[in-house]
Amino acid sequence: MITATSALAFQVLPRISDVDRKLTGVSSHGWVDVAGQWFFGGLVPMIKHPVHEAIALSALGCAVSKGEEADCVTLERVREHQVLLYGVRWPDDPPFALNRASPPRISGCDPRVTLRSTAQPKCWYGLFKDADKSAKLQMQSKPGQPVFGPGDYLLYRSHFGDLQFFHSMAAYDGEPAEETLYRMRMWARFLWGLATKEIRTDQFIRFLGVDQLGQYFPGDMTATNLFATGIIEVRKHLDVVAMGVLLHMVQDSFSQAHTGRAVESGAVCERIPRFYQPGKITQFYSYAGQLGSEHDKEDTFQALKGQTLQVQPSVVDVSRAFLELWREGASWDLAEKYFDCAFTLESPLVKAGPGPYTH
Ligand SMILES: [Zn+2]
Repeated sequence: MITATSALAFQVLPRISDVDRKLTGVSSHGWVDVAGQWFFGGLVPMIKHPVHEAIALSALGCAVSKGEEADCVTLERVREHQVLLYGVRWPDDPPFALNRASPPRISGCDPRVTLRSTAQPKCWYGLFKDADKSAKLQMQSKPGQPVFGPGDYLLYRSHFGDLQFFHSMAAYDGEPAEETLYRMRMWARFLWGLATKEIRTDQFIRFLGVDQLGQYFPGDMTATNLFATGIIEVRKHLDVVAMGVLLHMVQDSFSQAHTGRAVESGAVCERIPRFYQPGKITQFYSYAGQLGSEHDKEDTFQALKGQTLQVQPSVVDVSRAFLELWREGASWDLAEKYFDCAFTLESPLVKAGPGPYTH
């Protein structure tokens, strides 16, 4: 339930990066209403409902009763944790440069301006719809493989293609759960290395030697390019950004539309017993074949409230555990013990599908 107070808070919620506001002015296609709010907010629920932000702020110590996490989203707290929240939002809205030589044939796209939902909302929305449409078409002709990959725009890849592991989702229908998990562990290891400053942000990702991550970013791309294209103000704090990006994946793994989980058993984590084990993963879903409107019903405050009231450890508890390990400066070897516990598969060969979200 969105209370009057929190609804008010959302209306004054600043975009995570103030630079967005300025870029909206640079681009001739920005759609901002008289109150300075983003016009498209009402059309894209994940932007409208800052559920990830509420979970993160709650895990960071905002003291509210269970089920009232939405109240954590206030202007003051958002400002205080602006960089971490930039990371938490990043997988849903990663900034990237449009192809200047052959810009998308979608109205509202200005290739001189970094693409982000807030800076070019009309273009962003047009691309998202285009990705959805072409994903559903290509799934028929290319079964058993991701419909988008290296060379395609980040927005296409992260929501519908090979990078769906950002969201704790499978890259395509039919992918065995252990493969999805392998990518998620690779991604977590990379992010943990950045978050603890063990991995450099100025080297090409393909040279970092993090499992097969280089296959996903085969070009001349550094962590700085990936996480801060066009957004210069977060570049000094990519460790914090990386932690936010990791929290996003962790949090999505508790959304019913992303990942199926069994009920928690009450057990502690075997190899790191100070934490309790969340419900085991029963299946990963893939977004490409899902109906967006059905998926979005799970990414709401209503769903979050249902979980924090009834599940323990909840998404907030698990986010808090990762933050605790990070603050302690835990090595990946230690953090991985908790990762393995939080992402235990019930059965490694279960194949991904759209789940009950197709109609
Ligand atoms: Zn997500």
